[in-house]
Amino acid sequence: MAKVLVIGCGGVASVAIRKCCMRDDVFTELCIASRTLSKCDALKAKLEGRTKTKITTAQVDADKTDEVIALIKRVQPDLVMNIALPYQDLAIMDACLACGVNNLDTANYAPENTDDPVWREKYEKRCKQEGFSAYFDYTWQWAYGDKYKKAGLTALLGSGFDPGVTQVFCAYAQKHLFDTIETIDILDCNGGDHGYPFATNFNPEINLREVSAPGSYWENGRWVEVPAMSIHRTYNFDGVGEKDMYLLHHEEIESLAKNIKGVKRIRFFMTFGQSYLTHMKCLENVGMLSTTPVEFEGKEIVPIQFLKALLPDPASLGPRTVGKTNIGCIFTGVKDGKRKTAYIYNVCDHQECYREVESQAISYTTGVPAMIGAMMLVTGKWNKKGVYTPEEFDPDPFMEELNKNGLPWKVVESPELVD
Ligand code: NDP
Repeated sequence: MAKVLVIGCGGVASVAIRKCCMRDDVFTELCIASRTLSKCDALKAKLEGRTKTKITTAQVDADKTDEVIALIKRVQPDLVMNIALPYQDLAIMDACLACGVNNLDTANYAPENTDDPVWREKYEKRCKQEGFSAYFDYTWQWAYGDKYKKAGLTALLGSGFDPGVTQVFCAYAQKHLFDTIETIDILDCNGGDHGYPFATNFNPEINLREVSAPGSYWENGRWVEVPAMSIHRTYNFDGVGEKDMYLLHHEEIESLAKNIKGVKRIRFFMTFGQSYLTHMKCLENVGMLSTTPVEFEGKEIVPIQFLKALLPDPASLGPRTVGKTNIGCIFTGVKDGKRKTAYIYNVCDHQECYREVESQAISYTTGVPAMIGAMMLVTGKWNKKGVYTPEEFDPDPFMEELNKNGLPWKVVESPELVD
């Protein structure tokens, strides 16, 4: 039925590709293209004979729009799934526009080089205007909205778990559970243990940039920014138990503040153990999280990229990670004139994910929604033209596919709230 070009072949892409191959009724042809061709070939070799999906591979540097255009012209896909890094988002969107193809990604644009003066000028203006200082935001991709509409194309932004499923949960709560949603708390709990003193569950560079940035939340129509990890709560998570969690800035807050009408406060919390925080603080203090190149023995190196080379590859954590994740949203609001609260969440087991797709649950909980987002687009269930985030579509078909494809969800009325 559909031919899809997947760009990227790391932890998340590998899960999305395997899940597409399990739905060979929908995904009849896949081209896996990435910077390192051997990774694409190795995955193809593992999957062939186990799926009816016809798989091809290609090498591409997705920082270069021309290379992506040439690849799209050769492959002629119905959809491009961008599961490389946020750095490539704009180059891939430019290529998709030039070729007239829909696309999705799993994280909003961030620049690789945060010292680039053109980017910095816009960034500093945005910090002042909006009131949050994270390096990533939606403005860059929302700016493509009119061009996509005119071209009759759809871009689905952030079709992972958070961002992604968390926004679908919000759309579901808005459609079925509430007349007005007043507050949303997004809770991301990873109760998994990989046995290493320090490792990240997805791309270390992107992950460490995100969690070391100042925290922020949306309240009464504006951003409130606080120092990193300065707001701490504990919560008793179903399937995991009691965990410490910290308020972070997170990209879906920005789109939900626009799209959930009347919402007064949106916060995002992620769980971290004390050892992770101590390691991160120490690395930050010595300059290892810096994105600014330094000269070392006559060579320029970017500290955070060097750190990435030292840390375990997140794709290798699968066999050794045990425990569960619990990610979801707590809502307060009003239904039929009465105040109510509800919690929608998914619990996912690291080892079950490994048995199914040879990956830990963080890549799994991101790769499955990427596959479902692709399914929504190629089957025409989600077909608005323009650039959209997941809460802007009908949540029902997506929620149904979560249950069928390994990420079942629960709705709990009157849950424990976060103060
Ligand atoms: P990995 O680092 O494991 O994989 C990234 C892949 O992209 C690698 O195959 C890499 O190639 C490839 N790549 C990088 N640069 C280029 C380029 N210039 N051209 C072509 N390919 C390139 O990352 P993850 O799989 O952990 O993360 C993938 C994405 O998922 C990220 O954007 C991340 O932010 C997002 N994410 C989203 C989540 C959500 O819930 N929404 C949660 C977790 C992650 P190579 O092998 O050569 O390095």
